[in-house]
Amino acid sequence: MPKTKKVGPTRGLGPRYGATVRKRYVKVITELKKPHRCPQCGFVRVKRVSVGVWSCKKCGFTFAGGAYTPSTKLGAVAKRAAKGSLAAAQASAPATEAEVEVTEETSEESE
Ligand SMILES: [Zn+2]
Repeated sequence: MPKTKKVGPTRGLGPRYGATVRKRYVKVITELKKPHRCPQCGFVRVKRVSVGVWSCKKCGFTFAGGAYTPSTKLGAVAKRAAKGSLAAAQASAPATEAEVEVTEETSEESE
C-alpha cells in the first residue's frame, strides 16, 4: 500500500506550484486561519475579514493589522514609534500590584 496522501491547506493544489512554495503557503494560511487573541477583550476570537482587516467575533472590535496575521513585527515597530511621541505628553500612571495573600490552613486529624 502506498502512503496516504498528505492533507492540509494545499489539498486542492495537487502537485502544482512546487513544494517550497506550497510549504510557505501552508505556513501562512495556517497562521491566517487559526483564531487570534483580541487586543480589546482578550478572547481568542479574532478572524480576518479582509486583507489587513481583523475583527473580533466576541466584542465586534475591528482593527487594522497585517495581511495574514493580526500583528506584524513591522506593525509593532510602527506602534512603538507612534506611542513614543505620545508618551512624552502622557503622565505615567502608578503601577498597581495585586497582593496575593497566602493563607495556610492546617487541619489536625486524630486517628
Ligand atoms: Zn474582542
